[in-house]
Amino acid sequence: MRRYNAPTLCTEVAAIFVGDNGEPPANRDICVYPVGDTFQSISPLNQYCDPMTYPLLFPRGECSWNTGMEHVEERRTAKHTRVTQLQYYAYRLSQRNGFSILHNSDSESKIRTKDDIDKFVSAELPDPCTDLRLFQIVTKCMVHGPCGTININSPCMRDGQCCKSFPKQFKDDTEEKVNGYPIYCRRATEPDQVGKYSMDNRWVVPYNPWLLKKFNAHINVEVCASVKSVKYLYKYVYKGHVAASVKIQKEVRLAVHLPQQQPIVYKDGQEAQAIERAALRKTTLTSWFELNKNDPSAHNISYSDIPQYYVFDKSTANWKKRQRGGQNVIGRLPVVSILDTERYYLRMLLLRKSGAISFDDILTVNGLRCITFQQACQEYGLLRGDQQWHDALNEDAQF
Ligand SMILES: [Zn+2]
Repeated sequence: MRRYNAPTLCTEVAAIFVGDNGEPPANRDICVYPVGDTFQSISPLNQYCDPMTYPLLFPRGECSWNTGMEHVEERRTAKHTRVTQLQYYAYRLSQRNGFSILHNSDSESKIRTKDDIDKFVSAELPDPCTDLRLFQIVTKCMVHGPCGTININSPCMRDGQCCKSFPKQFKDDTEEKVNGYPIYCRRATEPDQVGKYSMDNRWVVPYNPWLLKKFNAHINVEVCASVKSVKYLYKYVYKGHVAASVKIQKEVRLAVHLPQQQPIVYKDGQEAQAIERAALRKTTLTSWFELNKNDPSAHNISYSDIPQYYVFDKSTANWKKRQRGGQNVIGRLPVVSILDTERYYLRMLLLRKSGAISFDDILTVNGLRCITFQQACQEYGLLRGDQQWHDALNEDAQF
């Protein structure tokens, strides 16, 4: 689709999250560079993360979902007191206001006629006497090039032609649906001085006045009413192209711990009781062993994929067969440093070995019981070559 074409210009930057099978990755390493300060890493669960990643979904810069967000009283139950990320975004995306102009899935808000298009998208220089601020932003951010004969070295030039087809033709009126895209109104008016060039409406990149004034940035908005299959599609451009589509996934965090070393949470003075309790309590990992003992249909599913097929019931600490929604779930193993040697190699084995029924089983390779998980990795041939160092570097890159 046109919106997702690979960038052709060196000035374009496309950001795309891709993991296995084209799905977004489970881990994202997000760094913020405050002006005049050193960078800070923030968790993808941080409530400031989504507003920065998807500014159009949070036009006022408001905070997004956070782990402590509670249900209102009438929706709260004994079991469910907190709002899940899925619930939050389902609610959030069902109200749209400023966002609705970019959304064309229901008939009410669909942009159909040329009047609708003109209402939301402009491709002309605004009148500085009516709206000076908008004029300043458009001339600063939304004028293409110049390229062509005026500037033959512009990065958009391909074989003597602008690859974005600028300058466009003058047009007295907007025309709907030409190859699925409208031709915007660009009247032949007096040119304005933009930098050292005299520019007219033929050079204006389509924009939405409200968004432009809101963000004071290069935001290219176009109508794509004929793209039936795409429910939420918008193009947000800031010094380049970012096409963003939102997919909501539920992340299930999976424990990776050595035998008898599951993490314990305790209050001061209650350590002994906590240890006793923890010894009896199953984790997602020990419960996965149980599942493999009892359910042969789980044998071909790796530990990290198990949440797609089974749900971890926290009250009984058992994996139960999932009834629905598996495609929206991803299992996430914690990142383990290579300095945490045995846990690191256990994790490596868990990513590759399905159907394990115990730690001993993981340690047993071709009938031989290894002493350490590192040795087991060796026996499996996982340490041949440089694979583990690549893995380690990749993981370090995640921190
Ligand atoms: Zn050009």
